[in-house]
Amino acid sequence: MRVLVIGSGAREHALVLGLSRDPKVTALACAPGNAGIAAVAEQYGVEVADPAAVAALAAKWQADLVVIGPEVPLVAGVADAVRAAGIACFGPSAEAARIEGSKAFAKEIMTAAGVPTAHSEVVDNPARLDAALRRFGPTYVVKDDGLAAGKGVVVTTDLAAARAHAMTLLEGGHPVLLESFLSGPEVSLFCLVDDRTVVPLLPAQDFKRVGDGDSGPNTGGMGAYTPLPWASEDLTATIVETIVQPVVDEMADRGVPFSGLLYAGLAITPTGPQVIEFNCRFGDPETQAVLALLRTPLGELLNAVATGNLAAQPPLEWAEGSAVTVVVAAEGYPGRPRTGDVIAGSEAEGVLHAGTRRRDDGAVVSTGGRVLSVVGTGDDLEAARQDAYRRIENLHLAGSHHRTDIALRASRGEVAVPAS
Ligand code: AMP
Repeated sequence: MRVLVIGSGAREHALVLGLSRDPKVTALACAPGNAGIAAVAEQYGVEVADPAAVAALAAKWQADLVVIGPEVPLVAGVADAVRAAGIACFGPSAEAARIEGSKAFAKEIMTAAGVPTAHSEVVDNPARLDAALRRFGPTYVVKDDGLAAGKGVVVTTDLAAARAHAMTLLEGGHPVLLESFLSGPEVSLFCLVDDRTVVPLLPAQDFKRVGDGDSGPNTGGMGAYTPLPWASEDLTATIVETIVQPVVDEMADRGVPFSGLLYAGLAITPTGPQVIEFNCRFGDPETQAVLALLRTPLGELLNAVATGNLAAQPPLEWAEGSAVTVVVAAEGYPGRPRTGDVIAGSEAEGVLHAGTRRRDDGAVVSTGGRVLSVVGTGDDLEAARQDAYRRIENLHLAGSHHRTDIALRASRGEVAVPAS
């Protein structure tokens, strides 16, 4: 099987590495890729959000399967174009990708399916903003109503800060979504979905804030761990039963069936799991941790989803133990990341590349905010943490920063589900 992966982050590096370990995968390519992916896959330049260009590359390279990593090409209809070219594709149609691309669509589906989620209101007129903020009260949750790569959200008890963020969005022509605040630990549950068939992966938790102790602004994600030692054994089954299956069935009933990876971002509130958001693809950085424990051959699995055969797959196999991902970000991230710095030690095992490029002189240099994802594994979370942080010690990138507390509280048994 010849597999082409679309994207250039550490998520795609994890996907490419997972695919390279599947004996059924005979050739691997990635577009556009990065300096780390280049060691395992052929690389091609392509405009990832251009459906015709991706489909043409897939046909020319004679791909049997295309795996789409990021949300932007999915929302743009790349999966539809690849399928129209007669090639199997892992990733939802543009219509189904609206579960991530349009918060209004996601809320409509959730309401129709009776799935618990935060109450929300869209504000597109600055004159209505203050009254709306008063109705919600603190803690304020202010979001960009469109795709914002995880960076469009401000959660704050400070009315002036909430107002300022909303005004910045409105002045930029972006409608604002206000939401009620959901309290409780967050869970990311990735589910393979093929029409009405749902197969959950291990639940994970990610760390959105830039600084230790969840301080500073939101980012695309600074780290993650899996599984969740604090979660009840039936948490995954409860989430599938009360949230994912009803949403997937509602989409199928509407003639917009989902195929690919449906990511439920949840808060485990005192009254049970509630949806913060849905994403239509693997999440970064949780994927790097989750795939580190998956033992089922990845190519076969993604191909089963893409060809409508997920229901016939045997149960997933997982390694024992835990995995932790720590993101190494460039100086200035998430504001204005500095680029062009030389990175040393990035070829080591467990180091996944995101914003990297190989210069003509052979040096690996940084090209973006989140530069590397370092993955550690171990018998338990503490061992996995130590493994990840030991690997980071061998890296050098001037000015870089990373959180030192990824999975720390969970490893000490300090994360707890609120009592109902
Ligand atoms: P999102 O981009 O929607 O995933 O939001 C980014 C982060 O903001 C989430 O991971 C949460 O930490 C936080 N967040 C978003 N919406 C809510 C909400 N309604 N209640 C509490 N926290 C939220």
